[in-house]
Amino acid sequence: MLYGTPVVPGLGYGEVVWLDDASVPEADAGARVDPDQIPDEIQRFEEAAKAVAERLRAKSVAIVGYASDILFATAALAEDPALRDDIIGRIQEGRPAAAATLKSGEFFASQLAARGGKVADRAAEIRDLTTQIAAELRGNRTPGLPDLSETTEVVLCGRDLSPALAVGLDPQHVSALLLTDGGPTSHTSIIIRQLGIPSIVGIRDLHEIHTGDTVFVDALQGCVDTEPDPEVSRERVADYLHSEVRATANGSGQLADGVPVRLLANIQGPIGARRASERGAEGIGLLRTELTFIGSVTGPDWDIQVRNYTEVARLFPDSPVQIRTLDLGSDKQVPWLRLSAEANPALGVRGLRVSGPRPDLFQQQLDAVAAAAEQLGRELAVMAPMVTTFAEADWFVAEAHSRGLHAGVMIETPAAAIRAHAILPLLDFASIGTNDLTQYVMAADRTNPALATYTDPWNLPVLDLIQSVAAAAEHFEVPVSVCGEAAADPRLACVFVGIGIRALSMASVSLAPVHAKLAQYTLAECEAGAAAVLATNTPQQARWVAAQHFGLH
Ligand code: PEP
Ligand code: MG
Repeated sequence: MLYGTPVVPGLGYGEVVWLDDASVPEADAGARVDPDQIPDEIQRFEEAAKAVAERLRAKSVAIVGYASDILFATAALAEDPALRDDIIGRIQEGRPAAAATLKSGEFFASQLAARGGKVADRAAEIRDLTTQIAAELRGNRTPGLPDLSETTEVVLCGRDLSPALAVGLDPQHVSALLLTDGGPTSHTSIIIRQLGIPSIVGIRDLHEIHTGDTVFVDALQGCVDTEPDPEVSRERVADYLHSEVRATANGSGQLADGVPVRLLANIQGPIGARRASERGAEGIGLLRTELTFIGSVTGPDWDIQVRNYTEVARLFPDSPVQIRTLDLGSDKQVPWLRLSAEANPALGVRGLRVSGPRPDLFQQQLDAVAAAAEQLGRELAVMAPMVTTFAEADWFVAEAHSRGLHAGVMIETPAAAIRAHAILPLLDFASIGTNDLTQYVMAADRTNPALATYTDPWNLPVLDLIQSVAAAAEHFEVPVSVCGEAAADPRLACVFVGIGIRALSMASVSLAPVHAKLAQYTLAECEAGAAAVLATNTPQQARWVAAQHFGLH
């Protein structure tokens, strides 16, 4: 058995295929080019970089949304002067262009990975880009993902996967994804979750399995069976998929005794809203508005904002639509904000704090939501990210109410969670962001793969704090949902319901498994399971106890 941190729930079985390794092949490591060939080699590199950038750009315009922005950003990296100069410098020292490119990519990627945050997310993009340029230089094959069109049972393995490659995965052909690196709440994980491919990250011993081996992936528990029984494995996968399909047909979320649990969707814009509505979401719990503009050159645009908010809300005429104001900074840096560099961006000017240096963006966004509400003739809700103080919550509510909008905040900092009894009475609703709450409670960067055991939401200090927020919400009768990635874990969903949460918001692909799981247990059973989980001391014990109460998957 191999163990890691599950990031997309599900079961998978199949043959291992390792992704390309971005390290310099042994054969190239010591190779040298003649000094008179150096100008040609530089020219070859320039041409290859240009070809890869053009290919990525072409791909980015063929798709839409966040995935498109990611490809566009990776293409821009190909023209990054620092990367280009470093590669050319290495070629001038006599290295062949392909080896220089890979070496340089590795150099920048390891520096970025060590810095954490959004910057660390770019490490996978750099490795992906330089692998693509090196393959182009060798002219021997299509770089990136292997051709999987003839296969249906592939378990893809790799060190990390760039968001640009993640968007190219096809769930028809990839039954699971296993990575040695990768964080549970990284951008790649968020994309894979939207695709619904069972995935485990942070598997340190993954190199024990090789291309051609057959494995069974349990991305509910976070383990990989390296000697599986083919028949039993296929049966378990089929049973699991069957229970998912049954669940989609069942209508609104409820427990076995009929207690309603509202199942909402996390989206980034109108396309996600359509998928959410097809998959039976009962509203939008989190519209991550910043993702529309993260790859933009100039920043948010009034018309795009009004159109997006209107289109999303139109798809959910009688359901809640919670539009989160721009959550920028930290791991979502954008050049157009022009904020000063920070030593610790996750603890810096991010989320609602950006409205300090850029009040214009904040006011424009609230006005755009109000304009959408007016066009539709309905009420819309806005929600502030990264709220830490009572004063911030109070100010945000006043700004929203003055425009006729419902007002809520994300409870995602320990400060807001600890003072929930003071903050909640100000609000129309709140939503618990477990991704950041876990990062801040556990003092562990959510994007750092080496800290996956800390950024696991099954850590008891996180669950304790959520329980106290849920108790305050019940006392003050303020609707509170959970919208972090943790809400998508069916057994954790039962635990949240057991501690008093009655609305969960998640990637649309997770709605069916969570729906199916909740339908199997009564409120009393959820409460008993939650109490048993909260009585444990480690995430491993918590998962194990939850499995006893709420089944293995
Ligand atoms: C969270 O922090 O849990 C959350 C939902 O917000 P994001 O992942 O966008 O930071
Ligand atoms: Mg957050």
